[in-house]
Amino acid sequence: RPVTSDEIRETFLAFFAARGHRRLPSASLVPAQHDPSVLLTTAGMHPLKPYFLGAEQPPAPRLTSCQKCFRTPDIDNVGVTARHLTCFEMLGNFSIGDYFKREAIAFAWELTTEGFGFDPEKVFVTVFGGDEQLGLGPDTESIEHWLEVGVPRERIVELGREDNFWQAGPNGPCGPCTELYLDRGPDYGPATKPGEDESDRFMEFWNLVLMQYDQTTHEDGSSTLVPLPTNNIDTGMGLNRMAMLLQGKETIFETDQFAPLIALAEELSGTRYEQGDEAVDRAMRILADHTRGMTFLISDGVVPSNEDRGYVLRRLMRRAIVQGRRIGIEGPFLGRYLDVVVETMGAAYPELVERREEIRTWVTAEEEGFGRTLQAGTSLLGQLLDAGAVSGADAFRLHDTFGFPVEMTIELAEERGVAWHGQEEFDRLMGEQRERSKAGSRRGDHGGAAAGSIAAQVAEETTDFTGYAALEQRTTI
Ligand code: ATP
Ligand code: MG
Ligand code: MG
Ligand code: MG
Repeated sequence: RPVTSDEIRETFLAFFAARGHRRLPSASLVPAQHDPSVLLTTAGMHPLKPYFLGAEQPPAPRLTSCQKCFRTPDIDNVGVTARHLTCFEMLGNFSIGDYFKREAIAFAWELTTEGFGFDPEKVFVTVFGGDEQLGLGPDTESIEHWLEVGVPRERIVELGREDNFWQAGPNGPCGPCTELYLDRGPDYGPATKPGEDESDRFMEFWNLVLMQYDQTTHEDGSSTLVPLPTNNIDTGMGLNRMAMLLQGKETIFETDQFAPLIALAEELSGTRYEQGDEAVDRAMRILADHTRGMTFLISDGVVPSNEDRGYVLRRLMRRAIVQGRRIGIEGPFLGRYLDVVVETMGAAYPELVERREEIRTWVTAEEEGFGRTLQAGTSLLGQLLDAGAVSGADAFRLHDTFGFPVEMTIELAEERGVAWHGQEEFDRLMGEQRERSKAGSRRGDHGGAAAGSIAAQVAEETTDFTGYAALEQRTTI
């Protein structure tokens, strides 16, 4: 029997707990007040940032966690690559001024080969190969430590700054990374080592960040790096990628956390997964990922809106609905997904169970709201695509009147081979609308966008964004 995702999580945390690490619970997907630089938590280290910066005292110098993460920039990779989700779990071990490279590498090797049982000959590692602008040579210490644990030099690959140097911004703590990859074999592509191509043959599963410098970036792009007072370790292992590798699945979507969501898509659509129709498979994967993201985001207090996190959530839900229609799912269905996500993930994340009905309220409202304009918006977009062009003004109208997130409009256009050149015009119209609604609210006039235009009238009749404001007041999360 292959290991389950729950067992992978426990194996990791128990391994590090046995080596003196304090177990921390996952923090919220919504970062705490002290970090305005990110909309959503994208890595296990985010909630620990104050410790790394020395602003707060950590509860212990060695920490370990399984952190729920959300990466909006990966949204377009979902269902296309084998390895990307928007919403995933990241396992991590952290040293705040305690151990450094040698121990981090030894721990990683032991857990990978003995704990998880990977064939050592199939594991490749990458190290930082140096960078002129940073004024740094290759990370020979890491190479040394990998050799010490028994990785032969030919499986230690040097990569550049792009892949193997971590920094959170132009200034502040930073350092080289060293990453672990599993070679899945020639069936997955012709590459001979990590970093050679974009294929999923060499599968990255663990990133060890070796935080050792404080960076100051100058105007000419060069940097001054001074050693940090204490060296830190920050690692991130993708739990869902480990499940894919340990369960012998081709993609993340066939693993135990996702199979029930794919099965639901099959049930609702009456279509089968992996029967040779790439578009169907992609839609089912997007549905599985986005509905999970939706459920986790709402459980952490995000609600659909047209700004920031709320917009990310709205984009996910509306894209899921459109993909659902595409594979023949009719009527409201997101609630069914919500239930399966809660059933598969609720034991590890009890907040999902506790807030299930609150989440359902938001899901139902959003699905109803978008359901009212989806048909009309789809037929307008269809006409535009038949005519071969979508302008910025069209995209604005689709957004404003029919609730189509612009990214979705662009995606649907590009799928039909219609190129998108409307960004500038779209941004200008959005900016004008923002100005108008600011002016409107100053006057106490709630007419809002493009008052007087036909689009605005249609919008008033067909969309009901004000409904959310009312709902927002009723709901406590
Ligand atoms: P990739 O190059 O595959 O996009 P990454 O280098 O962006 O991954 P890191 O920032 O190094 O990823 O994150 C640490 C680990 O988290 C990765 O090694 C991987 O196991 C996991 N991970 C990162 N992004 C995702 C994602 N979108 N979905 C699932 N797991 C992810
Ligand atoms: Mg990435
Ligand atoms: Mg990478
Ligand atoms: Mg990485």
